[in-house]
Amino acid sequence: MTYRSIKGTKDILPSETPLWQFAEQTIRDVFRQFNYKEIRTPVFETTSLFARSIGELTDIVGKEMYTFQDRSGDSITLRPEGTASALRAYIQNNLGESLPLTKVYYIGPMFRQERPQAGRLRQFHQFGAEAIGSPTAETDVEIIAMTLEIYKRLGITSYTLQINSVGDEECRPRYKEVLRTELLKIADKLSAESQKRISQNPMRVLDSKDENDKALTAGMPLITEYLNDECKAHFERVKGLLTAYGIPFTVNGRLVRGLDYYTKTAFEITSTELGSQDALAGGGRYDLLVKELGGKQTPGVGFAAGMERLMMILEKKGFQPPAQRPAVFLAAADEQSRDWVLKTTMELRSSGIAAECDLLSRSLKSQMKEADRQQAQFALVVGAMELETGTAVLKNLTDHSQQQIPLGTVAQFFTR
Ligand code: AMP
Repeated sequence: MTYRSIKGTKDILPSETPLWQFAEQTIRDVFRQFNYKEIRTPVFETTSLFARSIGELTDIVGKEMYTFQDRSGDSITLRPEGTASALRAYIQNNLGESLPLTKVYYIGPMFRQERPQAGRLRQFHQFGAEAIGSPTAETDVEIIAMTLEIYKRLGITSYTLQINSVGDEECRPRYKEVLRTELLKIADKLSAESQKRISQNPMRVLDSKDENDKALTAGMPLITEYLNDECKAHFERVKGLLTAYGIPFTVNGRLVRGLDYYTKTAFEITSTELGSQDALAGGGRYDLLVKELGGKQTPGVGFAAGMERLMMILEKKGFQPPAQRPAVFLAAADEQSRDWVLKTTMELRSSGIAAECDLLSRSLKSQMKEADRQQAQFALVVGAMELETGTAVLKNLTDHSQQQIPLGTVAQFFTR
């Protein structure tokens, strides 16, 4: 029996991890510069946390969650996104008590049972951030600017920012009524999925991927025309700030996103360098969510972005991360010097130097081949004679220059 990874999951191989680590480091740098602190929550939670926050009628809750009963009979779900968990932790640990504005970020795996294809996996990774406690448009724009800064930092410029306002608990119900009335007129022509959504969540119909649905709803009224004064003012301020910061955007009145918890601002970043799964990141404001999950009324805004899709673009651009390579490969010229080589390799490592030696009892020739294969910067060849004289030749494997160094100063050579 040979085992294979489960459909829709992917090994991130040693040849790929340098790029992942480089991107993750850049992402962490940007978060730190914007003063967001990392939060790490469990990968599984009580099912109702997600059902309640993301919305029963969304694709995620309706058909994509990995939900199972554990041995105590509790319904558990592998997290399909990060916001619900972050807010649960915020409420449970009273994070808002000591800080009026809590700024957190996360990077980690998420799980959704979607149909796997390029850029769509069942275990994928997201990085994201939440600013919990601020109702201002400035915070929305900070979140958007921070997301874009990450792509900019990684040399990605081929993206489009779309924004919308999905209203609030006062103006959205009014708009939904108008939309529902319009949709009911063409209900029999819509896809079965959209028909189901008309009564409970008509805005989802505008988000339908069905081409026929899209054509039929093309002229439908948009939420942007029905915003109340507060939502309208907020949206105007967001647009004004984006313009002031020189961030190009387009308003897409049909943008509702795949999660139901948004209020006011919603946004999505897409890239033409991706295939049909072109969404790089998305986010928005969720002023009702903390209360919905049992906390005090607290406004918030956040975003989530896909790591794999970011990797796809970086790979396509031929982006070369700094390679992980030993600073020095210590080669034993004979049997007598193997112990010294091993011991010295360990000592160099303890001094913070990336050092490697042979663990396969290979010939000197094979050891030198291995030093090249590992792209070591230097090789130090030590045999009985070198141990006796106390000096050895240090070979620079890049420019092939050589120098004689005292064996007692190897560590200093690499730490100076
Ligand atoms: P969402 O939480 O659906 O708004 O997703 C945020 C981002 O996560 C998307 O823009 C994608 O970049 C990424 N993403 C979502 N679902 C998947 C998936 N199944 N596989 C890979 N990336 C995904």
